[in-house]
Formats: sequence, C-alpha cells, structure tokens
Amino acid sequence: MHYEVTGAGKLREACGVCGGFAENQPLAFLTCFALYALQHRGQESAGIVAGPGDGRKLWIKRSMGLVSDVFPDSADLKGIVCKLAVGHVRYAYGSDGRDPENTQPLKLRYRHGELAIAHNGHLLNAIELRAELEKEGAIFQTDTDSELLAHMVARQGSESLEEALAQVVPRLKGAYAFVITDGKKVVGLRDGFGFRPLSLAALEGEGYYLASETCAFDTIGATFIRDLEPGEMIVLDENGIHSSQVVNGKCENLCIFEYVYLARPDSNMKGVNVHLARREMGRRLAREHPVDADIVSGVPDSSIAAASGYAEQAGLPYEMALVKNRYIGRTFIKPTQKMREEGVDLKLNAVNKIVDGKRVVLVDDSIVRGTTSLKLIRIMRRAGATEVHLRISSPPVIGSCYYGIDTPDREDLIAYNRSIDEIARLTGADSIGYLSMEELIASLDLPADKLCRACFSGDYPILPA
Ligand code: AMP
Repeated sequence: MHYEVTGAGKLREACGVCGGFAENQPLAFLTCFALYALQHRGQESAGIVAGPGDGRKLWIKRSMGLVSDVFPDSADLKGIVCKLAVGHVRYAYGSDGRDPENTQPLKLRYRHGELAIAHNGHLLNAIELRAELEKEGAIFQTDTDSELLAHMVARQGSESLEEALAQVVPRLKGAYAFVITDGKKVVGLRDGFGFRPLSLAALEGEGYYLASETCAFDTIGATFIRDLEPGEMIVLDENGIHSSQVVNGKCENLCIFEYVYLARPDSNMKGVNVHLARREMGRRLAREHPVDADIVSGVPDSSIAAASGYAEQAGLPYEMALVKNRYIGRTFIKPTQKMREEGVDLKLNAVNKIVDGKRVVLVDDSIVRGTTSLKLIRIMRRAGATEVHLRISSPPVIGSCYYGIDTPDREDLIAYNRSIDEIARLTGADSIGYLSMEELIASLDLPADKLCRACFSGDYPILPA
C-alpha cells in the first residue's frame, strides 16, 4: 500500500481486502462482487488474483479506478477456472498515492512459485524493516507494505507459506489485515491489536471466504461465521480451515472509527450492526445536546442513521435538507485542500424549500479538518436557514491515526487545541455539540478497552518507533 511520510514519520493507508478458497465456485466472479461491496473502503484502484489452487500460474487483473472501471464485464470472470481468489480496493493518500505501481494485490515470484498479497492497514516499522532489507540488497518496486511482507516471507527458509508467515509476522508492528495466496491456499492475518477488521464466512456448498466487512458476504451469498481474532492466522485450502495464533492478541483494539464513519451500515463488527450503532449515537447525541429547532437533517450518506436517531429522540421532523450527487467520489480522496473544498460544493446541495426560514439541526458523523462543516453551514444559510446547529455523532478528532485511517497531521485537525466555541466560530455554526466518548461507547455496547479510540483521546495503543 502506498504511504506518505509526514511530520511524525507517519504512514497512511486504508483499503478493503477479501479472498477465498472453494471447489466449484466462480471465485474470481464472486470476488468482483465482494469488491463492489467493499468499494467504499477505497476508490483509487481495484484488483483480483485468481488461481486453480494447485500452485499453477495465478491470473491477475488490477488497475487504477473503481471496480466497475477495472472489471467492466464482470460476467467474463465466470470463465476463469479457479479454486482461489484474492481481491483488493485501494484508498490512496496525497498526490503520490495515485501511483499505479501501488495497485494491489501485489503478485510476484519467489522460490516456491507465486505469491499474491492484499493489505489493509499501516505498518509502523515499515521504514526500519525496508531499510534493513535494502541494506541486504533487496530491490523494491512499490511503496507497499505488501511488498515488504513478500520480501520477508521469501527470505525465510520455511517450506510452507504459513510457516514463513508465523516466523516473520511477529516482526511487523502496527495495523494490518492481510489476505495472501501462494496459489495453493489463501491465508488471512490480523494484527495482534485487531485494529483493522477481517471476518470469515462459509460459501454455499463448500469453501470459505474472508473480507474486511461482512456486507461483502451478503453480496456473494456467503454465511458469516465469525470475526478473526486479533493475532490470528487462518488458512483456507482444500482441507477446509486451519487457525493458529501467530502473535499475542490479548490487547484487542478495533478501530472505533469503523463504527463512526468507515464501515458500511449493513456490516456488523464484533456482532454490532453499524447502522443500528449510528442511530443509537444519534439518540444519545440528542439527549446530550438538545436544541430548539424546526428540523433535523443528516449529511448524506454516512450520518443519516445518526440524524434519524437524533430526530426520533428529539421529537423533531427528520428532513432531507441536503442532496448528494452520487457520481462524485469521496471528498476526502481529493489530494489537495482546494480540491477537497470544491468537491464538497459539487457533491452536496440544499433543498431550499425545506431549509428556507427554518432552524436546522445538521448532524454529521465527524469533523476532521472542518472543511465540510464550513461548506455545509454556508450552503444551509444560502438556502435560507435562520439557525444552523451542528451536532456531531462522535467526539472531537484531536489525534492523527497511525493505524491506517486518513487523518491529517494534528495541527490541521480543527479540534486540536481548540475549544468548542472556537470551532463553532470557525465553521460558522450557531452551536456545536459533540457526542461524548462515554456515550459513543455506550452506543456500541462494547467494552471500551477493546476499541482503539486514539483519534478522539490521543492515547495510542502503540506508537511509531
Ligand atoms: P472535514 O471536512 O475534514 O472536517 O471531514 C469531515 C467529513 O469527512 C465528515 O463529513 C465525514 O463524514 C468525512 N470523513 C471523516 N473521516 C474521513 C476519512 N477518514 N475519510 C474520508 N472521509 C472522512
């Protein structure tokens, strides 16, 4: 995965991964469907690797663009005779992030044949590991953590991929969910903190499938079995599944931002449905930060569930005050601030007849830089809102993420070192209310110490060296 080194030696990436092993299933075709379901996790590139399952040559197709751009005739994939497949959608950062050489899955040859790797997350010690390998003469063709892992695996004397992984994975520090194949099996791996999600499902008939989010299973007709444990390695092959613990997984820290914004509403993580959790966040937000208003509206799409919860709890009408143009990518994906700002206007428009003369509660899931909030409040006022009260269904983002989520340096976070009143002044809102950490956790009904809350609390489970 591409990374960008910023002030604190921070590397960034975020993606969706999937893959499975099965007899008599059109696995490449299914993987294309799974990638469609994971598209929200990355829109920069997409790719699939598939193979007959006996170690013979792996088929690969990957390129820049959306899944529909890369696989315009997905039905053609039905013709690929395969027992295994691995897929990837990539979210890129910064201007270099769009480098086509970083598209995944990465595929390469080593002494046991071929290897293909897809990765979601971010390794904190990638720079050190890479420098070590380069000193020994390794040549890298990409900026991805996948290539780093490939070099480490290839250097192991081990006979099997699992043995090699069990040896090298303890050396990786940071957040990772890998889906890997050597042409004979598919291996799923989750870091010891379980920062990034990865789940397992059964395919109809026989076979198993792995994916970053459970919504992918619904799309391919697979039946969810369980989330992988932190530090777990799971091998899918013709003998079924085999699980082992490759690193200590006692300090589980699943990313709380998955529930707040990243994951699709129809996905479940740790048994908690994302949509229901967001609606509960909205209800609790209304109790914590009530306000006299006429209507409540969400910012499509990610905060609609929270806004509906707010409206229900507050006894106010839920209205569609904003319309989203669905043909424009995520604002965040634009590499420059200027492009990001323009993106918001292109993307969202107010329904004037609804907003005009109203006191509006606008619910969003998070404020990062504040760019979106500033634009939205301007849009609302232009449409005639008499008051705009911003309600955020998560706490202020005060820390950059080191574990794979796109957040700017902390100096660029609007909430970093600023009071709520200052944030209201900067965004132009009449008032702002953020959901507290306690209420956010209560919405999920999960133990706080099993969730990574670093971006909201500034307490990092692990830090870069
Ligand atoms: P900002 O404009 O920087 O304050 O970004 C906040 C907006 O972007 C909110 O509307 C969120 O729904 C969305 N958002 C928050 N975090 C991310 C992320 N990591 N990637 C993409 N969009 C995000």
